[in-house]
Amino acid sequence: MRTKSTKYAEFNNKIINHLILFLLLFISNIAAQCFAPNPQNPRELIPVACNLVKNEPQENLKFKDSTSNNSSSSNNMFDITLNCTVSTDLCSKVQKAFDTAGSIISSYLLLNTRIVLSASFESFCDLYSSCSENGILGFASPARWILMEDDDNIQRLYPQSLVKQFELSTHPEYSKNDIIASFNSDVSYWFAEDSTPINETQFDFLYVMLHELHHGLGFSSAWDEYFTGYVTPLLANDPIKEIDAEDDLVYNNTSYSSFKFYECAFDKYVILMENGQKASEITEKLNTYFTENNNANKKKNFEISFPTCLCCPIILA
Ligand SMILES: [Zn+2]
Repeated sequence: MRTKSTKYAEFNNKIINHLILFLLLFISNIAAQCFAPNPQNPRELIPVACNLVKNEPQENLKFKDSTSNNSSSSNNMFDITLNCTVSTDLCSKVQKAFDTAGSIISSYLLLNTRIVLSASFESFCDLYSSCSENGILGFASPARWILMEDDDNIQRLYPQSLVKQFELSTHPEYSKNDIIASFNSDVSYWFAEDSTPINETQFDFLYVMLHELHHGLGFSSAWDEYFTGYVTPLLANDPIKEIDAEDDLVYNNTSYSSFKFYECAFDKYVILMENGQKASEITEKLNTYFTENNNANKKKNFEISFPTCLCCPIILA
């Protein structure tokens, strides 16, 4: 016979089971905050879901001994996938230049985790109808930016290739590629294997690519002229923050309450030359706009009221 107390116990068990299920669901949905570059506009970042995942043990190379000077092509820490739509001969020069660039960068960066690069060499005239002679040479960008809390308690955008080097036991879900790069085959590029020396109308492909790959590694600033006449950090969605079962701060990737100015990892070191003020202090002041103005369309409102709303220093472009 079932008594009142056994019914109560069953009821309690049901609640506990539901609670455990709820907690499990909640834990499986906890997330870091990640952004991907907008392919239509590289100056804009799109929030992407990146739940926390346990690190799968992988065969990472150990940190190289910086005292040993044994840099060679065998030390290339880049896994390169090249999509090349021109002649086989030209594509093999492009591939070789990518391999050389990978070896060069691997010789002076302390990398413990391989970097995955997805690159293309194709006609921007066909792709983007950008057919002018002085067109874009190419570009590279981190495939994913991950919001990380710095040691000065400011959250900044870290390139995925750098976050991977931290070898975190639990980390935000990574994008398949660390860097995406694209180079314009319409440009008159010069390659090391060319039989003639470079002339004044040509660009050294390896030189251009090395420059761009550093941007792909995250060597860049979020400060730019996004609003006509003013230089600010990058403006993107500010995710709703939640506290998980372990008291950690996590991000809800499906809803956004506001906008926020974000700096990149290296912006921590940016100062104003005239007085030594840290750029991060200005970012913090700029962000008070969003915490103090509870408007529906805050991005739009900020654009309208930007010149007058703040008493903080505004840098003119
Ligand atoms: Zn550049």
